Amino acid sequence: MNTKVTMETIVSLCKRRGFVFPSSEIYGGFGSTYDYGPLGVELLRNVRNLWWKAMVQERDDVVGLEASILGPSAVWEASGHVSNFTDPLVDCKNCKMRWREDHLLEGAYEAEYGPTKRNAAGQIVCPNCGGELTEPRKFNMMFKTTVGVVEDSSSVAYLRPETAQGMFVNFTNVQNSMRRKLPFGIAQVGKSFRNEITPGNFVFRTREFEQMEMEYFIKPGTEDEWHKHWVEERFNWYLGFGIKPEKLRIRPHSQNELSFYSKATSDVEYLFPWGWGELEGIASRTNYDLTQHSKHSGKDLSYFDEETKEHVIPYVIEPAAGATRTALTFLIDAYDEEPDKDETRVVLHFHRAIAPVKVAVLPLSKKEPLVNLSQQIAKQLRKKHVVQYDESQSIGKRYRRQDEIGTPYCVTVDFASLEDNAVTIRDRDTMEQIRVPIAELATTLDEKLAY
Ligand code: ATP
Repeated sequence: MNTKVTMETIVSLCKRRGFVFPSSEIYGGFGSTYDYGPLGVELLRNVRNLWWKAMVQERDDVVGLEASILGPSAVWEASGHVSNFTDPLVDCKNCKMRWREDHLLEGAYEAEYGPTKRNAAGQIVCPNCGGELTEPRKFNMMFKTTVGVVEDSSSVAYLRPETAQGMFVNFTNVQNSMRRKLPFGIAQVGKSFRNEITPGNFVFRTREFEQMEMEYFIKPGTEDEWHKHWVEERFNWYLGFGIKPEKLRIRPHSQNELSFYSKATSDVEYLFPWGWGELEGIASRTNYDLTQHSKHSGKDLSYFDEETKEHVIPYVIEPAAGATRTALTFLIDAYDEEPDKDETRVVLHFHRAIAPVKVAVLPLSKKEPLVNLSQQIAKQLRKKHVVQYDESQSIGKRYRRQDEIGTPYCVTVDFASLEDNAVTIRDRDTMEQIRVPIAELATTLDEKLAY
């Protein structure tokens, strides 16, 4: 069954089952920031690790980096963020709500705000109350701070609004230390911060979030083929981990959407409950960033091509994804409600690699011999997998609890196990049960969970 899921359902499941909590909740919460609970961290970690595996560890042309979050203003002046990383902010003169002017245009955010409203003079008005809006003001989305004990202009620093610049400023360090030839990539996963005007839709748009970005440095002239390659590669990554194909699409940007230095950008989009939204952007960024950093730092960031004996500034293809947004997408996509006898079974059909808990070990009763055996089994399985042990309430309720968090396999230990040294494995999706000797349990589960 393909349930039409609402965000209320996802938000409440996340809180109830320990995926995501509102941040600083006991103090009334803190505007659109969230904390990842015990299951959320496992989910997020799986997303990061699977991206890292596909983008770095399984390739011989990409290496990793972990750059600092705090950076001097010089970096952000060179990249253009100090002057250009702005959104057009408009206020409603009546209800005081704030909007991004570009979000109010026809078609842009209709799924969230409803159709664009205009007054008799044809001006766009507030989607909330129909009130008149102020002229747009440029609002810089970077979080500014100062470092050190003296607050003056030389101590100004910023929390990074993207991880990408870390790769550009370390281009020569990485290239020299790893002796790389074009094409090669530098990848990074980490937190970014943007003072978003309209955060919302749970963890879809927050002010603190996590990105997974890769800068792929190439010879000028090869950008079109590499752009195509990375768009396909990234689209298939989501499909490979079970995202429903009918809910995933590639949307090339129109000319007027492109940043002035970008040759082409395509977004991978998902059909969220409120409409299509960006999961990842794959941009063909020319040599803009390296050129800017060369100019501003006075350092030569060119690459010497041994074949042509020429210095070139490499072009760049950048697949930029959001880890937190992707984790949310996996949750929404996996959610299902299925009729089960007279009731409804809530189940997350996570791909086995994405599921936060892989196996649950459930003794049929709390009697000591069963508990002892079950705990031994859980201990053995924990060496390789994330395992939950649960002995409270009826077995039916425990299966339901595991279905609701998307655990692919439940291992049930019953009284017969003490005699025949075998246990039952229950499959989350088919609910089929098979009996396997305890001696073969670990290898059976390893095989079932392999990907
Ligand atoms: P949007 O149009 O949604 O604001 P963007 O085009 O500004 O996104 P990029 O700068 O391309 O986003 O960042 C790459 C990815 O980082 C996005 O595709 C998204 O997955 C993630 N991302 C960007 N901003 C946020 C945010 N405020 N909260 C959560 N994830 C974000």
